[in-house]
Amino acid sequence: MSYQPVIGLEIHLQIKTRSKMFCSSPNSPDGDEPNTHICEVCTGQPGSLPVVNKEALDRAILMGLSLNCEIAHSTKFDRKNYFYPDLPKGYQISQFDRPICGSGAVEIQTPAGPRTIRITRAHLEEDAGKLIHPAGAQYSLVDLNRAGVPLLEIVTEPDFQTPGEAKQFLQGLRAIARYLGVSDADMEKGHLRCDANISMRPAGAAELPNYKVEVKNMNSFRSVEAALAYEIKRQTEALEAGRTLARETRGWSDAKQATLSQRSKEGSDDYRYFPEPDLPILHIDSAHIEELRKQLPELPQQKLARFRSEFGLPAGIGWQIVESREMAEYFEATVSELKEWFSVQKIASSEAIKESIQEAARWCAGLFTELLNRNGVGPKKTKIKPENFAELLTLISKGEISKTAAKQVLTQMFETGDDPSNIIEEQGLKQVSDTGELATIVEKVMADNPKVVEDVRAGKQQAIGFLVGKVMAASKGKANPQVVNQLLLAKLK
Ligand SMILES: [Zn+2]
Repeated sequence: MSYQPVIGLEIHLQIKTRSKMFCSSPNSPDGDEPNTHICEVCTGQPGSLPVVNKEALDRAILMGLSLNCEIAHSTKFDRKNYFYPDLPKGYQISQFDRPICGSGAVEIQTPAGPRTIRITRAHLEEDAGKLIHPAGAQYSLVDLNRAGVPLLEIVTEPDFQTPGEAKQFLQGLRAIARYLGVSDADMEKGHLRCDANISMRPAGAAELPNYKVEVKNMNSFRSVEAALAYEIKRQTEALEAGRTLARETRGWSDAKQATLSQRSKEGSDDYRYFPEPDLPILHIDSAHIEELRKQLPELPQQKLARFRSEFGLPAGIGWQIVESREMAEYFEATVSELKEWFSVQKIASSEAIKESIQEAARWCAGLFTELLNRNGVGPKKTKIKPENFAELLTLISKGEISKTAAKQVLTQMFETGDDPSNIIEEQGLKQVSDTGELATIVEKVMADNPKVVEDVRAGKQQAIGFLVGKVMAASKGKANPQVVNQLLLAKLK
């Protein structure tokens, strides 16, 4: 019998706000001196009272709208009771039966086509503090800077069929959170945390398995994929050997590249949820929700769909561009400049423009991204103006510069902010398309490589590439490869 995974995700997204979820302490959990952003509310002093942060509420609604969730008109908070040293109150304020965001749906692209992932709900809650275990010490320390920071817990239906889909969904979620500015959603920093539920069912079976394994401690997209793949293998082997699988929680160990059993899973009964008596039921009117809906930018998935239909970008490169809002905006600015250049240069062919736009996407996702990453800057901070980027692409399109030389030009533009025609002029990088000039080089390369010439003449066509490479090198990357190819073909006949 073959088995098929059933995977659902529970994601905790730290929401960026000025103050914490229920008090006025700064929401600044990373990097500062421990226990400096705290007050009587977030440290659970008797008699202190929580107050709901409206900014957190609005940001949760924005996130919910982006996931096509129903937004509750009436929502309430509940106490989730448990003991842990990083939770001074002995309970966490969360939402139980009336979450701020109800069911929703998101589309992801799979190799088999688009699929819908249903969102069960998304609710607001407060984060706990952090325990620090100094190496070799007999004690642990607690830092409450993070206690009370707003979290949005997003729960999906068990709609994922592969680890890759789960990873793709998370990357999509990160992109949405960043577009909206509601979270930096950095997994390594714990802004975005993911737990997964996974079980196996016989291929084609409709009903869900009677057990579920929860996997925790996955701190990167890579570990989510690896942990799920590990569980698929472990559970399949157990089922094939006739063993029953327990409902349990397992932790992913990056070092061991394995999941390890932690404890049997609690049900919600164990938490003794009850309504938070210190907070009122909140009513959110439709007008406010519509107001927030108007603030939604074009989201990454929508942008991708538009880039694909308008410019014919392939999904992979398209996603690399739209994943960052800044890059998507930079790309669009370049495209609009590119259209200007084409009209100034009187290149009317719409095919040529489309081809050049796709070329722009490849450069943005390729060398440009590489230069940005290497220097740790975003597209907005670069010295390369979209206008100059577009000029370079126009020169490539007109065959005035080879792609090899263009790499050198772009790198220099990145360093100096100079415009490409100046750089090309100064460094003599203009592409040589003149057949007379190139013929001399071609003949010399042929004379220097008689064996290869013989091979080509004997029918080994792929050896031509070697000769083209030699001519390109001899011309210091300036030769027009198409012209070189034609010359070689003619002379090799
Ligand atoms: Zn506080």
